[in-house]
Amino acid sequence: MGEVLVIGGGIAGIQAALDLADMGIQVHLVERLPSIGGRMAQLDKTFPTNDCSTCILSPKMNDCARHPNITLHTYAEVTGLEGEVGDFSATILKHPRYVDETKCTGCGECAQKCPARVPDTFDMGMRRRRAIYLYFSQAVPQVMTIDPDHCIYLRRSKCGACVLACQREAIDFEQKARTVCVNVGAVVVATGYDFFDPRGLAQFGYERCPNVITALEYERLVSASGPTEGHLLRISDGRPAKRIGFIQCVGSRDVRHQRFCSAVCCMHSSKQAVLAAEHDAGVESYVFYTDFRASGKGFREYVARAEREYGVHYVRSRVARITEDGNHNPSIHYEDAETSRPARMTVDLAVLATSLIPRPTTAALAQVLGIEMDPYGFVRTEPFSPVDTTRPGIFAAGCCRGPADIPESVMQASAAAARAARFVGRGNR
Ligand SMILES: Cc1cc2nc3c(=O)[nH]c(=O)nc-3n(C[C@H](O)[C@H](O)[C@H](O)COP(=O)(O)OP(=O)(O)OC[C@H]3O[C@@H](n4cnc5c(N)ncnc54)[C@H](O)[C@@H]3O)c2cc1C
Repeated sequence: MGEVLVIGGGIAGIQAALDLADMGIQVHLVERLPSIGGRMAQLDKTFPTNDCSTCILSPKMNDCARHPNITLHTYAEVTGLEGEVGDFSATILKHPRYVDETKCTGCGECAQKCPARVPDTFDMGMRRRRAIYLYFSQAVPQVMTIDPDHCIYLRRSKCGACVLACQREAIDFEQKARTVCVNVGAVVVATGYDFFDPRGLAQFGYERCPNVITALEYERLVSASGPTEGHLLRISDGRPAKRIGFIQCVGSRDVRHQRFCSAVCCMHSSKQAVLAAEHDAGVESYVFYTDFRASGKGFREYVARAEREYGVHYVRSRVARITEDGNHNPSIHYEDAETSRPARMTVDLAVLATSLIPRPTTAALAQVLGIEMDPYGFVRTEPFSPVDTTRPGIFAAGCCRGPADIPESVMQASAAAARAARFVGRGNR
């Protein structure tokens, strides 16, 4: 049937790969990180159903790993693409993990002996991992990776504690980067999104106040697999968060930063407030919003339930700045849109809904693929062929083409897979 290259192993890339593979098409799924899963793997629960994110994602990740028609290239990037629709030749660069994938079982014995401690990026730096690590506990593949920037042996030729700990002799410090060339009929780009850095808006106090965190940090905080094992505690001092302020549109809909709406923040903040109440019925949550955008199926009802059943307060307002008191409690200064008067509320935790922005690395990838970006920096697609990029045979799905929630990303992925399938093994348009 021919082959398709899918770039990015988040929910969009995973869905596109599974759809294509189920059609009998061979798929090469390339993921930059040591595991597939993307941002969805970092979420605790998902609106609009409050299903456990991992419970939905993990079976799909495992299906990808087991599917006879899918080849996973993790810790890898696409560095070249030549040819044309129906007959592309792609170059994939596989970075060395310094661990033999065919021997490692991900048991973690090596990590227990590793003396180097590093901020864990999966947990948004809120806890530390070792220099040899499993990206997260449900990672696919279940293979350890050595972080070359922090491994004592790779930096100073000393240590080797992991070599002694590994009974399967999987550690391989001689491993080198290698390239693989694949011939594919079509390409699906699903490289997802990044976050606006809230340090760019100093008035929100992200750097200054330890109890001002981002929405993705909050997701890790309430997750049972996160740094507080799901207890709603402040990382800074371990005190329970009893009053939480969720601030909308941090960087979004702002002519100085991102002009666009990030599409998911009104809903994910509502979800996060609901989760707070589910963790501890005594928590008070306040969502500071500009105007509310809950446009998906069942979304309005979700928000109504948050208000009615979980006591979430919605404050129509403009937040001006966040300061803190002597106990490091954030004070939210805002203009109340109902009264047009300035007001202030002190909370235990302030959560910033930072905008979803294009990944800077997708621009470099776009050059390799020969596709155009839109004025915001997302992959350009056309309104009436919404998953087609500017180069025939290359399609885009999920947040690399603009902010989207999970159901929409999955829908786009299936559309991109269907479009890609038309060009496989035939060389036609
Ligand atoms: C705080 C927060 C909470 C949210 N909660 C919800 C929710 O409850 N419900 C909901 O529907 N949506 C929610 N969302 C939105 C959800 O995260 C996205 O819809 C979803 O993750 C989009 O998936 P994606 O595959 O497009 O992108 P991503 O999840 O970003 O995945 C992209 C993948 O591509 C990889 N990649 C990037 N560049 C390259 C490259 N050059 N080569 C190879 N691989 C690459 C990345 O490493 C990543 O694994 C939330 C978002 C946020 C910020």
